[in-house]
Amino acid sequence: MAGPAPSQRYLSTRGGSYGFSFEEAVLKGLASDGGLFIPEAIPTLPEDWASRWSKLRFQDLAYEVLSLYISPSEIPADDLKVLIERSYSTFRHPDIAPVVPLVPEENLHVLELFHGPTFAFKDVALQFVGNLFEYFLARRNAQQARNGGKRHALTVIGATSGDTGSAAIYGLRGKKDVSVFILHPRGKVSPIQEAQMTTVLDGNVHNLAVEGTFDDCQDIVKALFSHPEMSKTHNLAAVNSINWARILAQIIYYFSSYFALANELPQGETPKIRFVVPTGNFGDILAGYFAKRMGLPIDKLVIATNENDILDRFIKSGRYEKHPVAAEEGAGGIVADGAKAHPAGVKETLAPAMDILVSSNFERLLWYLALECISGEAQSTAESSQEKKATAGKTVLQWMDSLKSVGTTVVPDSVLESARRDFVSERVSDEQTVATIKHIYTTPPSAPYVLDPHSAIGVAAAKRLIEKAKVAGETDVTFVSLSTAHPSKFNHAVDLALKEESGYDFDTVVRPKEFIGLEQKEKRVTVIERPDAELVRAAVEEMLAAEGKV
Ligand SMILES: *Cc1c(COP(=O)(O)O)cnc(C)c1O
Repeated sequence: MAGPAPSQRYLSTRGGSYGFSFEEAVLKGLASDGGLFIPEAIPTLPEDWASRWSKLRFQDLAYEVLSLYISPSEIPADDLKVLIERSYSTFRHPDIAPVVPLVPEENLHVLELFHGPTFAFKDVALQFVGNLFEYFLARRNAQQARNGGKRHALTVIGATSGDTGSAAIYGLRGKKDVSVFILHPRGKVSPIQEAQMTTVLDGNVHNLAVEGTFDDCQDIVKALFSHPEMSKTHNLAAVNSINWARILAQIIYYFSSYFALANELPQGETPKIRFVVPTGNFGDILAGYFAKRMGLPIDKLVIATNENDILDRFIKSGRYEKHPVAAEEGAGGIVADGAKAHPAGVKETLAPAMDILVSSNFERLLWYLALECISGEAQSTAESSQEKKATAGKTVLQWMDSLKSVGTTVVPDSVLESARRDFVSERVSDEQTVATIKHIYTTPPSAPYVLDPHSAIGVAAAKRLIEKAKVAGETDVTFVSLSTAHPSKFNHAVDLALKEESGYDFDTVVRPKEFIGLEQKEKRVTVIERPDAELVRAAVEEMLAAEGKV
């Protein structure tokens, strides 16, 4: 059998290492030089993709897309198909990710990504990641059994402010040889999200409620990953949004939604699509960038941020910096009101899954921009030499060092120009988010559709761009706004927007039947009295021992 193609081998964005298998990229998560894994080349679509793929089910389309990035010498075709079927069998909608017209006369659609088990888009990737972990471990352990070696087990540790935790837990529950520990700040996640996590009673799932903040939880996770004893005795793994398999699985729905819209047009016509993506860590929209670079006709990718707007500021200025110049000092440095802003500078908004200071996956885009800048060719794919790639890695390393040491990176104009060829950006305030939820719920033809606050940020951005397109006389643009969570997960923001509306009641209008009585179900959670890494480590060791894993 032919070995892996360049698009099926992986390198690090910081230039230190290349030639990794898909399995290594997925299980390691982060490269040892601190960079992120990307394929050595972006695959191009087969000649007949537009006709051959157009009527495929989501799962079959998934196979076509994923197999361009995963060599059959690593995962044989039949195995990959089984993994995909299993991953999407947990979704409630037959189309997995349906495209729903929101305002037909404006050509505005939403791509609903929340029909998985935890009602958030992260399920699309994490259901697949859980099955991949299990598959790789089963294979390694079959080998170990033949050689009489010790079983491989994975210990997944992560911190969550709500959404990632439940999606990770549902992706990994009951998976053989995997134990999962999710830290959340006690009392600081929404009641539904807390219940979603703690009512999962599988023996390999452990919720730790830490007396502290989300940042404390993240710091503890970092401390555990660099703890010599922990990393020596356990195979630690992360499922945060930098894991390549998560990006990969998210590429699928750009294709499926493209076909859903293209199939409605007369034969031979292609829609001119602008995807609007509520963005935090830049994982979801990066998948769109890969789809575009593979050859899917995407007109633009729209970054929609909340008030944590580092990416919006980058697209507007070419400066990638944690804080807008001087603004933070003006607010008095450390802001006393801990609820609204805290020393690290992340603003708490109504869309908490997008509350970030820097976007971890943006480094992957920076690598492609650096490579383009070096090669001087816009769409270089497979042919870029090792040398140019190594130089791109060095450039990224410098940019990231500068971000870390002085809080700022300024890219050359040519780099900003190439970013702007693919991306535009909009920043949406909390006030606009609430107004958008209200408008869409109350105004025909979208009424009574209920948006969650993250999805509302996308729709608010799309609405602005629709106005701009009208002014520019563009009538042929289709807008697809990605809907990243079901509104029931963020009842605070939704209630804020809709509580005055007659006939509105959260339980009857928004709450899905799966969430009825959820908060009353049996829970299992371990309280950690102080935000202390040693306390957490002791608890993890104890629970692993109880599971029989050490
Ligand atoms: C994670 C998340 C996002 C942000 O996605 P990124 O890939 O981090 O950009 C947006 N909305 C919701 C509901 C999420 O859970």
